[in-house]
Amino acid sequence: MMNIVLLGPPGAGKGTQAQRLVNGRGMLQLSTGDMLREAVASGTPVGLKAKAVMEAGELVSDAIVSALIGERLDSAGDAGVIFDGFPRTRAQAEALDLLLAERGRSLDHVVEICVEEDALVERITGRFSCASCGTGYHDRFKQPRQEGVCDVCSSTDFCRRPDDNEQTVRTRLAEYRRKTEPILPYYNERTLVRRVDGMRSVDEVAARIDAVLDSSELVRGA
Ligand code: ADP
Ligand code: ADP
Ligand code: ZN
Repeated sequence: MMNIVLLGPPGAGKGTQAQRLVNGRGMLQLSTGDMLREAVASGTPVGLKAKAVMEAGELVSDAIVSALIGERLDSAGDAGVIFDGFPRTRAQAEALDLLLAERGRSLDHVVEICVEEDALVERITGRFSCASCGTGYHDRFKQPRQEGVCDVCSSTDFCRRPDDNEQTVRTRLAEYRRKTEPILPYYNERTLVRRVDGMRSVDEVAARIDAVLDSSELVRGA
């Protein structure tokens, strides 16, 4: 049971790579962004608090997102977990360590996906997803095999996130540099960080992440 964090700026490819790990390895993806969007869509108290903050591209409070992760971890069973978009602050990183320790888990890797700023803006402004199953696509980089039809579930409904516009992206990137990047030293002290070049194709990034995860399996098996 391996537990990993996918760290990287908005649009780096965290969700795309997490989906591949879920399909390929049966891991469980815990995305605070997805959880918050569900809360907004169903109008829960958390959703009501988070909506405007998310639309502005700012960060939702540490207490809210840490509580969401704690709830989901309780039903994770034996599956290895991919933390996607969490933690995003030093306080969240500390909360995660506590939540894991309480459940007899710990982090194996923090995979940092590095992508240049111009590429991030292009990835985010072209992003869309299946409204029915959530599979992610891109106008230029990952179109459905048949135009207008989801590869996975054949739905013809797609959606774009309200915060995926150029102006909000700039705020989200600034939040990342100011609040999320400072987590790296916290994990580096424990030699958990594995840097992956996220400028490559989806398949090449996936191969590099696989290499990270498989190398540690060898060490453990020895
Ligand atoms: P992206 O995939 O572009 O990185 P996410 O879907 O992870 O974006 O997050 C969308 C928004 O949800 C963020 O801009 C932020 O407002 C909120 N959010 C998601 N995860 C967190 C978190 N761990 N801490 C605070 N806010 C979060
Ligand atoms: P994040 O979860 O980090 O915000 P996503 O996985 O949603 O990022 O990816 C953002 C957009 O970029 C999506 O439209 C996705 O299809 C596309 N994308 C992801 N990885 C790559 C890549 N390596 N090369 C080109 N486009 C990519
Ligand atoms: Zn679909």
